[in-house]
Amino acid sequence: MSSDHRAYVYSTVLMGSPIVLKLFEHDENLASRVFRLIKRYEDMLTVNRPHSEVMDINDAAGRHPVPVSQPVFELIKRARAVSLPDGSCFNFAIGPLVKRWKIGFNGRSVPPANELRDLLALTNPHDVVLNERARSVFLPRTGMEIDLGAIAKGYIADVIRDFLHGHAIHDALINLGGNVQTLGAPRNGGQGAWAIGLKTPFSHMDALIGIISVTDKSVVTSGVYERYFKRNGRYYHHILDPATGYPLDNELLSVTIVSDDAIDGDIHTTLMYGMGVEKGLAYLSGMPHIEAIFVTRDRRVIFSSPRQFTFTLLDQSYRIA
Ligand code: AMP
Ligand code: MG
Repeated sequence: MSSDHRAYVYSTVLMGSPIVLKLFEHDENLASRVFRLIKRYEDMLTVNRPHSEVMDINDAAGRHPVPVSQPVFELIKRARAVSLPDGSCFNFAIGPLVKRWKIGFNGRSVPPANELRDLLALTNPHDVVLNERARSVFLPRTGMEIDLGAIAKGYIADVIRDFLHGHAIHDALINLGGNVQTLGAPRNGGQGAWAIGLKTPFSHMDALIGIISVTDKSVVTSGVYERYFKRNGRYYHHILDPATGYPLDNELLSVTIVSDDAIDGDIHTTLMYGMGVEKGLAYLSGMPHIEAIFVTRDRRVIFSSPRQFTFTLLDQSYRIA
């Protein structure tokens, strides 16, 4: 029988995040294959467990290069390429600082300035040595660590999209902890578009600033409210400034990127975070296929150029600027 256009929602927790898959056919077998695939990539890329391909690289820091699988090598190459430009706020070698701050984990504290200074010296992305022929990665100094936390979920969301396409699924949604990849459009109304909520920062319930409507796009959000702690009246969140070692401190509460590939969204949310609104808008003006929604501390919602999505404001205490 043909589909009745109901949505079937499958969920789990992986990579420390809620994972949601929406399909329009009831197919538990497919859903569990999707979740297994996510887990397989998590097992390769995580730095939050003793073993993974990335942890093997980190464990061999200062000692020897480590050969890795093709996908891990390609992802590290991509992460390195976005880390290298002067002043890039994306740094895939930021691991020692992330580990020290422990933001989002137990035991977090504000590290002393001299400790941060010492750790900063271990985070130069130019120091990471990639060998194409051996497909190996070498961290030349003891204590260096790769962290793909700012790119891995976006990358995996695209892997899942491609997997679903390969199984003739053309209308579906996968949400990996705020990295949403949509395929086609929902079949059950929704005015032909997927409705993705833009969260109200620091709201205790699941309050929304508004709704982003898209078809066939990824919508990736990174917000300072996702992982943070408060000490002596100050907030410390999980996106670190590679130049100072402290959490990035600017006018932004969240950045959302609408693009074809979620990996671009994941990369650019971090990049935009570092640039702030003004520089970010100038940077994106030459990239029409990557669009941003900035939410600022003074409650403005700012778009780079809303061509690939529509936005409906729900919370009138925010204004579209
Ligand atoms: P996202 O959730 O995509 O904003 O990525 C945040 C995660 O990326 C953090 O939890 C860290 O693991 C890592 N990270 C923090 N600061 C940076 C940075 N400046 N560049 C690259 N990765 C970072
Ligand atoms: Mg990111």
